[in-house]
Amino acid sequence: MEVVHDVVILGSGLAGLRAAVEAARVSSDELDIAIVSRVQLMRSHSVCAEGGTAAVLHPEEGDSLELHAWDTVRGSDFLADQDVVKRFVEESPKELRQLDHWGVPWSRRPDGRMNQRPFGGHTFDRATFAEDKTGFFEMHTLYDRLQRFARITRYDECCVTSILIDNGIFQGMTVWDLTSGEFFLIRGKALVIAAGGACRMFAFTTYSLTATGDGMAMAYRAGLPLKDMEFVQFHPTGLVPSGILITEGARGEGGYLINNKGERFMEKYAPSKMETAPRDIVSRSEITEIAEGRGFSRPDGLDYVQLDLRHLGADTINERLPLIREVAIKFAFIDPIEQPIPIRPAAHYCMGGIHTDIDGATPVEGISAAGEVACVSLHGANRLGANSTAECLVWGRITGEKAARYAMAQKSLAPAPQQKVQEEERRLFEQLGHGNGSEDVFVIRTELQRMMDKNMAVYRNGPDMEVALEKVRELRTRLEHVKVIDTSRIYNTNLVALLETINLIDLAETIVLGAIARTESRGAHSRTDFPNRDDVNWGNHTLAYYIPGQEPRLDYIPAKITMWQPVERKY
Ligand SMILES: Cc1cc2nc3c(=O)[nH]c(=O)nc-3n(C[C@H](O)[C@H](O)[C@H](O)COP(=O)(O)OP(=O)(O)OC[C@H]3O[C@@H](n4cnc5c(N)ncnc54)[C@H](O)[C@@H]3O)c2cc1C
Repeated sequence: MEVVHDVVILGSGLAGLRAAVEAARVSSDELDIAIVSRVQLMRSHSVCAEGGTAAVLHPEEGDSLELHAWDTVRGSDFLADQDVVKRFVEESPKELRQLDHWGVPWSRRPDGRMNQRPFGGHTFDRATFAEDKTGFFEMHTLYDRLQRFARITRYDECCVTSILIDNGIFQGMTVWDLTSGEFFLIRGKALVIAAGGACRMFAFTTYSLTATGDGMAMAYRAGLPLKDMEFVQFHPTGLVPSGILITEGARGEGGYLINNKGERFMEKYAPSKMETAPRDIVSRSEITEIAEGRGFSRPDGLDYVQLDLRHLGADTINERLPLIREVAIKFAFIDPIEQPIPIRPAAHYCMGGIHTDIDGATPVEGISAAGEVACVSLHGANRLGANSTAECLVWGRITGEKAARYAMAQKSLAPAPQQKVQEEERRLFEQLGHGNGSEDVFVIRTELQRMMDKNMAVYRNGPDMEVALEKVRELRTRLEHVKVIDTSRIYNTNLVALLETINLIDLAETIVLGAIARTESRGAHSRTDFPNRDDVNWGNHTLAYYIPGQEPRLDYIPAKITMWQPVERKY
């Protein structure tokens, strides 16, 4: 079976929905648009975004586009492409006002204007928020907006298994409908990949179970390069022991980080920004406190420090951070009004992703990428909080418009790749689905996650990363001997887990290889054996190319420096 649409959008998070709305709007509802998501549309990880979305909204109070750009470039440890940053800061205020007009119930100041809170690495309060459920309200508003357009078809709970490209042109995607078991081809003129991040490669993570990097891995295997994969962000406040995010907004509202002596240890590491220093710096400070014996230990190894909100008082906590309070009570059994919250750094964001240009275009005609799956090079080596949801909106709009214009100009579709579809169906249901070895995919995935937590986290070094590389390769070999117990095509979570793990392992290899090669410390990539940034040799983006059956090929392109030369990064 095959279905045909003009524009196909892979992913229904903030980037995907924003792209869909824009494609429909630009084409005046002329184009036939498909949104494919492996979860029900509103269950995409974007609904979990808590703290805020960054934009300059109040220049009359001292904020400026230049300041937002500088904060982002400095936060990126001078690896962000500065032309991209400039475009971002100019576009994000427009996106927030647009969402305001579409109905996001922002938290407001007494005078009715949209409120903004401090966030890590920003020198001005510019995280625009709706309580501590910002992503949830933004997603609902975009979903609401989508209802105005007639020609949008949703494929919910449909898992895309491959992206098909021929001679540098997009052909279609193979899709497995998890609810009916059907396997089919979706063809289209243009594709926007908006399939989110890959943090489930780590065990202690803030991410939803479905953030398994499928979009990155499928694009990579289809021939698109991945960029800057070695940069993975660790958020300083993952709730112990679940890893659920405690938003940076909690520190933005004035929360303290304390060690087992009750000291606000950030005084030593970032005296001017304290708890609202960028995430890489705060995460390293926490790990240092724990390593030097000033943390709290746990038998399961999830040693922690504490986030103290008690001095904010019940009113502020209930009004500004109600979700945080609920989560702490339900998952750590403590009420932050009365007790400090146990936290430690948790895998939180992939700075790397599918290589795109400033318009979100990939090297393949008809395919663009937006949101966390993409690396347009806004965040460089370390993303600032609240810049990601804003990026999803800005490049969701840009790629949605681009895809629509491309589809309108295109007279015909690329030929249907029937043979590839049959091969993919066989790979899935005959080869993988009938795997009958002695390995359990869930055991392999757990081993991957534990190894990544141990060897590839906040601090890295050469020998540990070599071990990581060996382990990734061992796990890949063992994956060939997995037994899939469920043989049905309907909701076969066992086979889905196998597909996800194949993806995670391919991506883990690019992370580890890129990190071993990068003999410096920059942003989230912090090596104890190469503690300094090396601008002479490493002011470059890493590109990783897939080569079947071999190690990925790495290549490098210079970061674009258009405004500020790299200087020492101090807070
Ligand atoms: C807990 C948490 C809190 C956060 N808080 C903030 C914040 O306050 N501010 C901020 O700026 N950023 C925040 N972030 C980061 C930000 O929310 C994400 O980077 C962003 O929402 C990602 O959006 P996205 O559209 O790229 O992808 P997602 O929202 O992750 O959506 C991915 C989509 O791709 C689909 N998909 C994936 N694989 C497949 C497949 N194989 N087949 C079909 N569909 C597929 C999924 O079903 C889903 O619809 C937070 C992240 C987390 C985890």
